[in-house]
Amino acid sequence: MKHHKYLIIGGGMTADSAVHGIRKIDQDGAIAMICEELHPPYDRPPLSKSLWQGKETPLESIWRSTHGLNFAMHLGKKVIALDPEKKAVTDDAGNIYTYEKLLLATGGAVRRLPYPDDGILYFRTVDDYRKLRELCEHGSDFIVIGGGFIGSEIAAALASNDKQVTMLFPEKNIGARIYPPALADFLDNYYREKGVTVLSSQAIKSIQTTGAKITIVTENGSEMSADGVVAGLGIQPNIDLAKQAGLMVDNGIIVDEMLRTSHPDIYAAGDVANFYSILLEKRMRVEHEDNANVMGEMAGRNMAGQSDVYHHQPFFYSDLFDLGYEAVGELDANLDMVEDWKEPFRKGVIYYLRDGRVCGVLLWNTWGQVDVALDLIAEKAKHTDEMLKGRISD
Ligand code: FAD
Repeated sequence: MKHHKYLIIGGGMTADSAVHGIRKIDQDGAIAMICEELHPPYDRPPLSKSLWQGKETPLESIWRSTHGLNFAMHLGKKVIALDPEKKAVTDDAGNIYTYEKLLLATGGAVRRLPYPDDGILYFRTVDDYRKLRELCEHGSDFIVIGGGFIGSEIAAALASNDKQVTMLFPEKNIGARIYPPALADFLDNYYREKGVTVLSSQAIKSIQTTGAKITIVTENGSEMSADGVVAGLGIQPNIDLAKQAGLMVDNGIIVDEMLRTSHPDIYAAGDVANFYSILLEKRMRVEHEDNANVMGEMAGRNMAGQSDVYHHQPFFYSDLFDLGYEAVGELDANLDMVEDWKEPFRKGVIYYLRDGRVCGVLLWNTWGQVDVALDLIAEKAKHTDEMLKGRISD
């Protein structure tokens, strides 16, 4: 049995930030991190972006610095049981670890299609990145399933590396769930101009592997084969441990403003945490780097005795070929939207409104304005189109 003052389940960006947070307050308390992945903490966003943009960003740059933090890492171990009363967890090798304070930083598991052994690369980890790089050494044709964040980034990354890419997704356009229809239409055409075959409104009927090729047939009869198929279908929060331990869960593990779960010695943070956004006045769960970093660090500090409250509204970002953006709040194409283009679809700001109030801002190729966008949301005032146009620009 191993005892630690602080135990962290998960080894992603949230877990790493939590170790930094603990060490800001407590330099000596024993910390251990248990992670199913075999690697120490690393940044995920470069896996679908900068690592594909030429040779300037080496793979080594993704590893997070753990220098001087003095903590134990148990890698390649999955925690399978949590007993909050005994303050103990058990991993899949039968090891038992006890704690004073526990952090669940278990993130999410990729959604999969209902085809076993389908040969599809469900892209999330550094090992997935390595596999895709290997496939790229010999393969020239790739199918990307999914038109959301990961799908659109990976398609752009592969096409930028001279691969023949077919994108396949059930929605009407790339990013249809979050972008205004005209912008989403533009994106489809933009991807086509870059050589990507964009097949929208497609449902998959079958997937078959023959030798090194994978063949996909869609419901409307299209058939295509590729050397590799990558899917970005989103994630589901890893809440099983929390559920089994009787903690409150919904879409994620419910935390209070100090990031405690329904058990006072157990915290949760990052992609898996369902927190109350003071800015948007609602509970939410987000999958953003900024959230993993800021929330993870705060959870660590609070585990070590601070009482900080999480009133941060995380921003997020994406890169699609030479287009890019930062965004805050709710981005949902079902909301009312006000589009303010400086240069149509190249540079501008999209405001998302609920009941006439701005609840989200997409800063399309508009940089350094996240705080201004947050202030605008915080006004919680009714805004007309005229009031918003010209309100934010860089
Ligand atoms: P995760 O990164 O999911 O880490 C959780 C870890 O816990 C995993 O290593 C998992 O193996 C481990 N684990 C889970 N359950 C157990 C268990 N029972 N026992 C032991 N270990 C366990 N966000 C942005 O804001 N902008 C971007 O541009 C962006 N790009 C991205 C690109 C890619 C390719 C990916 C995959 C994500 C991207 N994100 C981006 C999202 C961002 O990376 C996530 O929000 C962040 O990684 C969440 O960190 P986390 O530590 O909470 O969870």
